[in-house]
Amino acid sequence: MPESLPTRLIHHSYVAPSGFDAVAPGVHKASTVFFGNVHELRHREWRDKSGYTYGLHGTPTTFTLEERIATLEGGQHCVLVPSGLAAVALVDQAFLRQGDELLVPDNAYGPNKALAEGELKGWGITTRYYDPMDPADLARLITPATRLVWLEAPGSITLEFPDLRALVAVITQANAERAGQGGANTARPLLSVLDNTWGAGIAFNAFELGVDMSMQALTKYPSGGADVLMGSVVTRDATLHHSLLMTHMRLGLGVGGNDAELVLRGLPSVALRYHAQDASTRALAEWMQQRPEVACVLHPALPSSPGHAHWLRDASAAACLFSAVFKPEYPQALVDAFCDRLQRFRLGWSWAGPISLCAPYDVPAIRQRHWPHAGGLVRFAIGLEAVADLQADLTQALQVFARPSA
Ligand SMILES: *Cc1c(COP(=O)(O)O)cnc(C)c1O
Repeated sequence: MPESLPTRLIHHSYVAPSGFDAVAPGVHKASTVFFGNVHELRHREWRDKSGYTYGLHGTPTTFTLEERIATLEGGQHCVLVPSGLAAVALVDQAFLRQGDELLVPDNAYGPNKALAEGELKGWGITTRYYDPMDPADLARLITPATRLVWLEAPGSITLEFPDLRALVAVITQANAERAGQGGANTARPLLSVLDNTWGAGIAFNAFELGVDMSMQALTKYPSGGADVLMGSVVTRDATLHHSLLMTHMRLGLGVGGNDAELVLRGLPSVALRYHAQDASTRALAEWMQQRPEVACVLHPALPSSPGHAHWLRDASAAACLFSAVFKPEYPQALVDAFCDRLQRFRLGWSWAGPISLCAPYDVPAIRQRHWPHAGGLVRFAIGLEAVADLQADLTQALQVFARPSA
C-alpha cells in the first residue's frame, strides 16, 4: 500500500542533481541535519568545518560567510553572531572571568560600556576606561588582573583616531613583563580586541597592526542594506578561535541562513561602497567645516581632527561618518531643530546603508573623561545619495540657526 500523501510529500523520492553552479551561493537552513547511523551521530566533527551536526554549529551558508569575512579582515578564523553587540558580548564572555579587569576606551561604542557596567560588573568583572589618545594612560591602568583591552579606531561618535600601534605595543610590553615574572598570569596573557566596524577590513588590516581579535558589526558595511543585524569575531590565532567557538556554542549564538544570505549578497560590493561613501563623506565634511554655524568637524581625514596623523599613517580610507560640533552659542534645542528639519537625512542610529542618517549626541553624558567642546554634536552617516542633494538638504536645514529664536 502506498504511503499517505503527507508522508510522500515529506519523504519525496525526487532529489535535485548536485552541481548547480551560479553566482550566489546556496542558502542552507536547518535545526538538525541527518546522520546516517549512530556512530556518525556520536562522532561527527564540526569545529574544523569538516562536517555538519546542528544548525547552531554551522551550515554551508554560514561556513561560507565565515570564510569570506575572515578574508575581508585578513584573518584566519571567524565566528558569526546575531548582531555586532552580540560579538562584543561573545568576546567578553569567552575571555573574562570573575575578578578579571577589562579596559575600554573612553570613546567606545556606547553599548560596549553599558555591557561592562551591567552584566560584567554583576559577574565580578571590573572595567576601567582609558584615554585612547594617550598610550601612557593605558599602560598606567594595566594591573596583574587585566585580561582584555578593547580598542576602537576611530572612537564612536567623536572619531578620534588612536595610535593603534602604540596601544598594541603597551599590551605587548605588559605581556613580556608577565612572562618575565612567570606564575599563574603567564597562562592568561592580556588580549587585545579591536572593534573594527569603522575600518570594515577595507581601511586597514587590523592584524598587521598587531591586534589579537577583530570584531565587526556586519550590520554596517558588509551588509550595506540596513536590513540585517549580524556580527563577527575574526582572529589569526587557532587557540583564541577555539575559545570563541566553544563559548559561541554554549551560548547558542548561531545566525540564520537568510540573514547570512543578505550579508553574502552585500559583500561583493563592500569595497566599492566603502570608497564611494568615503568620497561623499569627505566632500560633505569639508563643506560643513566651512559653515559659520559649525565650531569644528570631526573626521580622521581632516588635518584638524584628533589623531589625523595616526589615520594618515595606518589607514588608506575612511568610513561614511563625520560629526559636526556646533558653535556653543546655539542651544541644544536649535541643534535638535536643525536635525528635525533635515529631509534627505533621516534620524537614525546605524550607518553604512543606502540612506543618509544623523543623530544628536550628548557627549559629556556618555564619557568619563573631559570633553573639550561646549556646543551640540550631530553625527552624520552618509549614504549613497548624490552629494549635491545632501548638501542642499544641509543648507536648507542650517537656516534654523539664522532665525532670531528657536
Ligand atoms: C553598530 C555598531 C556596533 C553594534 O552592531 P549591532 O549589529 O547594531 O549590534 C558595534 N560597534 C560599532 C562601532 C558600531 O557602530
